[in-house]
Amino acid sequence: MKRARIMGNGEEYSIGKIVCIARNYVAHIRELGNETPERPVLFMKPATAVIGDGGTIRIPSYSRECHHEVELALLIGREGKQIPEEAALDHIAGYGVALDMTLRDVQNELKQKGLPWDIAKGFDTSCPLSGFVPAQSVVDPQSLGLRLEINGELRQEGTTELMIHPVRRLVSHISSIFTLEPGDVILTGTPSGVGPVRSGDRLRAELVGLVALEVTVAFA
Ligand code: MG
Repeated sequence: MKRARIMGNGEEYSIGKIVCIARNYVAHIRELGNETPERPVLFMKPATAVIGDGGTIRIPSYSRECHHEVELALLIGREGKQIPEEAALDHIAGYGVALDMTLRDVQNELKQKGLPWDIAKGFDTSCPLSGFVPAQSVVDPQSLGLRLEINGELRQEGTTELMIHPVRRLVSHISSIFTLEPGDVILTGTPSGVGPVRSGDRLRAELVGLVALEVTVAFA
C-alpha cells in the first residue's frame, strides 16, 4: 500500500486513485502542438505508480523517450461528490509536488491510433510524489511556484497562476465524474519546459519554498 504523508502533523493516508489533468497550461499546450480543450482532459495513474523522495524512476524497456512534467499535487482529505467550486478547497488536506513521468514516444503512438495512454503514463515509478504541506499553510493555491532541476540545471519553472482551470474548478469537475475519497491525489498539469530524461539523471522538483522531491532515472 502506498502512503501519502502530511508534513508536520504526521497524518498519513493510503493513496487511492491518482487523477491527472492534461493540458492545463497554455505554454505547454503550445510546445506539444495540442489544441486547447474546453473542459479539463483527465487520465489516471494507479497508486502503484508512486515512488517517494530518494526513489528511482525505472523506464520500461518498451520506451526510449521519457519526459519529465513537474506538477502541483493535491491530496484529498475529505470525501465528496459533485463538490461545488466554493467548497472545493475544504476537501484538500495538503499540497505537494509530483512528477508526471511520460513515455512520450509511446504516448504519441497511442494518440495517433486513438488508444488510451495508460502504459505511457501509469507504469511503475511513473509518479514520484513528495510529502504534503498542510492545506492550512497555503493561503492561495493559484500563487505557487513550480521548479524542476536536472543535475542542478533549471529545466521547468512556472506558477500556478497560469493554470487554465484553477484548483477549485478541477476538484469540482473531477468530483462530478469520480467520487473523491481521502487519500486520492490530483495532479494538476505541467507548465512548459518538458523534455527527455537520461539514465543517471538526478531530478529535483520543488513547490517553491514549501517542499522538494529528489529522484534518479534508470532506463531498463
Ligand atoms: Mg502531466
